[in-house]
Amino acid sequence: MPLLARTVATPIAIEVRPGAVESLAPLLKDGRISQGGKLAIVIGPGHGEMIAEGLAGSLPSASIHVVAGGTLDAALALIQGLRGDFYDAVVGIGGGRTVDAAKYAASMVGLPFVSVATTLTHDGLASPVATLEANGRKASFGVHVPIAVVVDIEQVRSAPIEHVRSGVGDVLSNLSAIADWELSVREHGGGMDGLAVSLARTAGEAILDLAPGTDRFLTTLAEALILSGIAMTVAGTSRPCSGACHEISHALDAFHGSPGLHGAQVAFGARFATWLRGDDELFDVLDASMRVHHLPRSPADLGIDRDAFVDAVVEAPRTRPDRYTVLEYLDLTPAQVGEQIDAYLDTLDR
Ligand SMILES: [Zn+2]
Repeated sequence: MPLLARTVATPIAIEVRPGAVESLAPLLKDGRISQGGKLAIVIGPGHGEMIAEGLAGSLPSASIHVVAGGTLDAALALIQGLRGDFYDAVVGIGGGRTVDAAKYAASMVGLPFVSVATTLTHDGLASPVATLEANGRKASFGVHVPIAVVVDIEQVRSAPIEHVRSGVGDVLSNLSAIADWELSVREHGGGMDGLAVSLARTAGEAILDLAPGTDRFLTTLAEALILSGIAMTVAGTSRPCSGACHEISHALDAFHGSPGLHGAQVAFGARFATWLRGDDELFDVLDASMRVHHLPRSPADLGIDRDAFVDAVVEAPRTRPDRYTVLEYLDLTPAQVGEQIDAYLDTLDR
């Protein structure tokens, strides 16, 4: 009988709970990732050191590598360090930038990667993508899917509130990204990946009406970010989680010095893209959720002026030449972008 199913590469272990970091050693052993604990533990500057110290007792054979931040140079220096010895796996502990640098380095040296998130700023914790700064710009690199993902809710709870809000924004933007993907298929054909859409949309919907401030909320957010990462792996592209929302954010990064955290910028972009598509129903629920989570709705909220917003929207399609979204569909001239943005700003209580 033919096996009528497809195989999806996913992490073999996912653990989301308070105190999850402490169970790293048994998780690695039970998952057959590392029996003897010969690991390269990568931490960033900040409280990663404290976490690594706490692990020293249960993982005595592990060695600590400090990565300077989320740049390509920092990741390349880490690769040199990893080549100096032999390891079962690389464990990246920290926020988005540290995890991204460690994920990229692990992929380059051909070692399994264990993602240990202490903040929930974006959907990179389980995704096959690493975002690193290179030559003053953020670039996305394809990497191997993490072999295990651990989110310690206790750590996440004490992270700055802006980090959590950024995570919310990145998940919410899935809903706009999927609408852009549907538009692309309507206009140009090609298929949508139904499984990837189900995962990405369920993640967005799960967070939409959830009030912040509880462990239940943080757990759902962590799982929604993990589902988003798996949606990208399933689709073989970032499409289920990235549309015009992300193009606008990439332009803000490239030409306007990244005025906000990634998730704040993509939520800002998703709100505008949804308005452009004339999707009132999605717009209203997105807007309500963004108000609850204090995500930037106006350019002023993001710390930019109207002209910078116009520039970012004009430049946005250039940042992902192969992507078709509402921006490429409307194909507005710079003057028309200005008119649309003025009409959009009129709907805001500026
Ligand atoms: Zn994103």
